[in-house]
Amino acid sequence: MNNNIPGYIRLLQTGELHTRAEEVAESLLKNCTLCPRECGVDRTKDELGFCGSDYLPIVASYCVHHGEEPVLSGTKGSGTIFFGNCNLKCVFCQNHQISQPAQSLKKNEVSFDRLADIMLELQAKGCHNINFVSPTHFSAQIIKAVAIAASKGLKIPLVYNTNAYDSLQALRLLDGIIDIYLPDIKYSDDNEAKEYSNAKGYARNSRQAITEMKRQVGNLIVDDSIAVRGLIIRHLVLPNDIAGSEESLRFISDEIGKETFISVMSQYFPANRAGDFPLLSRPIRQREYEKVLGLLDELGLENGWVQEYSSKDYYCPDFEKEMPFAD
Ligand code: SF4
Repeated sequence: MNNNIPGYIRLLQTGELHTRAEEVAESLLKNCTLCPRECGVDRTKDELGFCGSDYLPIVASYCVHHGEEPVLSGTKGSGTIFFGNCNLKCVFCQNHQISQPAQSLKKNEVSFDRLADIMLELQAKGCHNINFVSPTHFSAQIIKAVAIAASKGLKIPLVYNTNAYDSLQALRLLDGIIDIYLPDIKYSDDNEAKEYSNAKGYARNSRQAITEMKRQVGNLIVDDSIAVRGLIIRHLVLPNDIAGSEESLRFISDEIGKETFISVMSQYFPANRAGDFPLLSRPIRQREYEKVLGLLDELGLENGWVQEYSSKDYYCPDFEKEMPFAD
């Protein structure tokens, strides 16, 4: 297999891409099980589930992003598409204006043709990839738009930048279509996930999802400093060890593989409603962060990136400011 040819091009040639877009995606949306909440609503009839999203995708913004991991942003940027709404409700979400909007984002709904055109526009700007941010609740719609875009000449890798609260049914729909999975691993304890993200069973579901992602794409493959296929796992360190960092890193080391590329992030700050939760109401401390970095060494996890520690250097939710990554 030539890893430099995105998988969806092969599926386009066999006709499988359109079959999935027209049949499988539609049937999943008729009884929505795109995420473990399994709301069962008929989104083709504009019924709303927990994520508050109906049939058409909501694009909050899109841009050429230079602040992702170096293998994604490269020199020309990652073609990032930020979807509105979310299937999690993280009290500390740094993008809460678009993930948990105070007012409906229906005005940002786009047709499948328009979403395909956005991908082609980002490709024309020279982006190394198309990067779907918070895609879970629109994963089926993304397939429909990719089928259109691929027919019109899309040919760069697709990145699925997810909170990992994805159902296995949805991930199987994406098998062979997504080239690079970029999941978070947010919690290792279901009680913390329920309290701070209203996500029942997050630990088990996210681990199942990441295991399936690894099965589909394998370890990260980089060609000429740019990712072409594989898995990168992100982990945001939270104050008071709410993220359960050690358990998550042990899971990666033991179950996913020591060679896995991991992106450890220090950028937490008490955004959204975090100030109402005492254990989340401060940035992380340097010693908390250094403890997690020490675990990477201890567990033999050598591949990836870590953000520099800075109590001031926050990620700016206007998507313009670059995240400072250090090798
Ligand atoms: S994506 Fe998840 S939260 Fe949204 S309707 Fe489907 S099952 Fe429910």
